[in-house]
Amino acid sequence: MAFTLDPLPYPFEALEPYIDAKTMEIHHDKHHGTYVAKLNAALEQAPELQSWSLEDLLKKVSQVPEKVRQAVRNHVGGHYNHQLFWNILSPEGGGEPLGELGKLITRDFGSFDTFKEQFSTGAANLFGSGWEWLVVSPEKKLQLLALPNQDNPLTNGFVPIFGLDVWEHAYYLKYQNKRPDYIAAFWNVVNWKQVEENLKKAL
Ligand code: MN
Repeated sequence: MAFTLDPLPYPFEALEPYIDAKTMEIHHDKHHGTYVAKLNAALEQAPELQSWSLEDLLKKVSQVPEKVRQAVRNHVGGHYNHQLFWNILSPEGGGEPLGELGKLITRDFGSFDTFKEQFSTGAANLFGSGWEWLVVSPEKKLQLLALPNQDNPLTNGFVPIFGLDVWEHAYYLKYQNKRPDYIAAFWNVVNWKQVEENLKKAL
């Protein structure tokens, strides 16, 4: 059993002008595609892991045989993180979350604007390559986590429900060194309905 790269749930150009078509195409087909291919290649060297789910591989990465552990860690995160990311974006996105998600954001951050500001600052200040995450903690609270590389909150006992890729490959074609402009644009294409679905599963 090998992992596969699902097509994007919308056309490459769907998130224009906030995220450009060329970036989406290269990011999905080449970057995400390579994570999937390299994850499968690593699992071929450790066939006993082939029955593990993506979540198992993330949660129990410390039990992965050492010869493939770093490769699995990098590429399982690369696969899971991007799969989540494509789904929390939508051309019909933007605005503010309502329902349970809106309530919990207000409960745990004070207001949506405070959450947005803290998330944006965390994403802008993350050094090097990585992701800014909104996670559900073991105590069922919402909190922010900034993680390097393709590390995933599941490895640390948190459940990611929303995240932003701040690797340069996610924005450099359009935004070059202006990461804060990419972060500001991203809010226009957030699919809050999907984030709410992710929250319900996490709770
Ligand atoms: Mn990426």
